[in-house]
Amino acid sequence: RDAEAFASKDEPAITRDGVRIEVAGNIAKAEDALKLVANGGEAVGLLRTEFLYEASPVFPSESEQEQSIRAVLAALESRPLVVRTLDVGGDKPLPYLPLPKEDNPFLGERGLRVGLDKPVVLRQQLRALLKASDAGRVRIMFPMVSSLFELKLAKRILAQEAEALGVNLDDIEVGIMIEVPSAALMADVLAPHVDFFSIGTNDLTQYTLAIDRGHPKLAAIADGLHPAVLRLIKATTDAARKAGKWTGVCGGLAGERDAVPLLVGLGVDELSCSVPVIPQVKQQVRNLSREACESLADAAMACADAAEVRAQMQAFHATLD
Ligand code: PEP
Ligand code: MG
Repeated sequence: RDAEAFASKDEPAITRDGVRIEVAGNIAKAEDALKLVANGGEAVGLLRTEFLYEASPVFPSESEQEQSIRAVLAALESRPLVVRTLDVGGDKPLPYLPLPKEDNPFLGERGLRVGLDKPVVLRQQLRALLKASDAGRVRIMFPMVSSLFELKLAKRILAQEAEALGVNLDDIEVGIMIEVPSAALMADVLAPHVDFFSIGTNDLTQYTLAIDRGHPKLAAIADGLHPAVLRLIKATTDAARKAGKWTGVCGGLAGERDAVPLLVGLGVDELSCSVPVIPQVKQQVRNLSREACESLADAAMACADAAEVRAQMQAFHATLD
């Protein structure tokens, strides 16, 4: 099966009823981008820029950041690249960026909140992205957005930096992670202000179920196929579609066999998974029909818990085998 998937890795992922799903990958550096291309990845749906900061003992300079983005764009050979601005705090510490000691770091200064609190860091990163944007198809994404207010502040900073550099923002898509329940529930209010959404199912699951994603005992029941999470995904894709925007998924669910049919049924346009599983995800999509997936997703949203959804998925796989 894997050999079959690999043989068709460069073919698009189109469902039996003709719906094309963009299959992208999550990466951290240029080397990963080369592997993504070799695996048939159509885009980068999430560049985790934390890696560049973690690999350095001090803040990387603006030109180092620009060069690293240029290296990724060169490897991608004109495929689109979603660059997420620095997402630290919570489970992602950065030694030289001291954050306040908090009782609940996951509910404190993390993601875009850090960027807005320390705009020098955010502005520098945005300038590096904007300068590199002439070398490919850069899309900019803000992490951990929880309100329209934060999004507007971030967009204003981006617009100011673009103007100062003389970069035209019309050609650069700007999107946000949907990984906080408030953002999913308010997706209709947020959608007019973005070009796309990308659902971070890791954090969205953690915040929806109130289970720490790294908890040694509880993480195993923090299942992203919980109907509560699926309903939030549906709210997001519905709002995006109404506004004419696209929705991706870049959390772990995008590469999970049980999740792919449900995500297709919930109306996502792009799946961004870990690079090694790109060929399998594409192959799986080709064997689905969106219409059947929609019924499956409706049934899953009506389940009582994730275990029921998993059981439903077992039965579904059996019908395809
Ligand atoms: C997520 O939260 O699902 C996500 C993709 O971001 P990260 O895992 O980097 O927090
Ligand atoms: Mg996240």
